[in-house]
Amino acid sequence: MECVSAFIDREALLFNIKKIKEKAKDKNGNQPKVVAVVKANAYGHGLYAVANALKDSVDAYAVARIGEAMELRREGITRPVILLEGFFNEEDVNFISKYSLITAVNSIYQVEALEKAKLNKKIKVFLQVDIGMHRLGSCSVEEIRALLKRLENCPNVEQPVGMISHLSVADTPSETEYNRQQIEFFYEVSKEFKGELCLANSAGIFIWPETHTPWVRPGIVMYGVSPFEDKTGPDLGLKPVMTLKSRIIAIHKLKKGDKVGYGAAFVADRDTTLGVVSCGYGDGYPRCAPNGTPVLVNGREVPTAGHVCMDMLFVDLGPDSKDKVFDEVILWGKGLPVERIASLCNTIPYELLCHVMPRVEYVFG
Ligand SMILES: *Cc1c(COP(=O)(O)O)cnc(C)c1O
Repeated sequence: MECVSAFIDREALLFNIKKIKEKAKDKNGNQPKVVAVVKANAYGHGLYAVANALKDSVDAYAVARIGEAMELRREGITRPVILLEGFFNEEDVNFISKYSLITAVNSIYQVEALEKAKLNKKIKVFLQVDIGMHRLGSCSVEEIRALLKRLENCPNVEQPVGMISHLSVADTPSETEYNRQQIEFFYEVSKEFKGELCLANSAGIFIWPETHTPWVRPGIVMYGVSPFEDKTGPDLGLKPVMTLKSRIIAIHKLKKGDKVGYGAAFVADRDTTLGVVSCGYGDGYPRCAPNGTPVLVNGREVPTAGHVCMDMLFVDLGPDSKDKVFDEVILWGKGLPVERIASLCNTIPYELLCHVMPRVEYVFG
């Protein structure tokens, strides 16, 4: 028996997708195509299992790297797969064509590689336009026009060319002005394009209806987790897909003043009961979780105590604890949103989910 497991709730995933589709409709009630973002091992949930569970519910998948896309193809996933970062060398172009991948194009070197390639099958592309993040793509209308023209004249490129952009502050509702500016620039530049448009991420789908282009790209919300700092997935009507669980493997009675773990970072301020849980940063639980981070034991929240170790962490079960060795512990997920743990660690839930380690047993249910 593995102690630490990540339970992946298929029913929750399908429930979330339904909700997302409802939310993503444009102002005329049209249903955009849904591109499920499954990069980084589906945000730590398991690339193939998630992609397979979604195969009748979404129109395409998006990943960051060509290796991720090839894994989907090797596993028998046949729907379109979009490379959000494009590609980095000429050889990749052959694979993109051979595996029928769709690629974002953000730089002149990618356009040149597409022009040079000798292909049997054209490649579908989205030109990436920078509307305010300054990460990938150009924000100069002249430059965009020039790149678009070359792609339109390139015999290896399927026509028409689509346009893809990424919102940089959509998760911050108070940034009304910068969001408005990005959306406005997106639609201005989009007039140059004959192909399909792809803008909204999770936050766009939930709170910026103007970003509901014919293709949308939900990531974090599919997994039942919120992109907004002050809300959880359940606050948005979503169900968490991953529940990270383990068990208590030892219990000790502590006297007031007893010191716990490496660096004695926790000192008991009363007589109490200490539980040792088999889950640590070697499983992906964040070491930076401070004393008092909640975990669920037998339906109640108890605080962590002391530094998280590589394979274990401590919880203060309280003086009246009736908990037993091998009782189940929920680190995050159902009943304990990962957003709360992320916030105590001064990070975002995306990072905690991505960091779940391969030694954790995945259970798909
Ligand atoms: C990761 C990513 C997404 C998904 O973002 P969420 O906030 O998880 O919805 C969409 N588009 C691009 C370009 C991305 O890199």
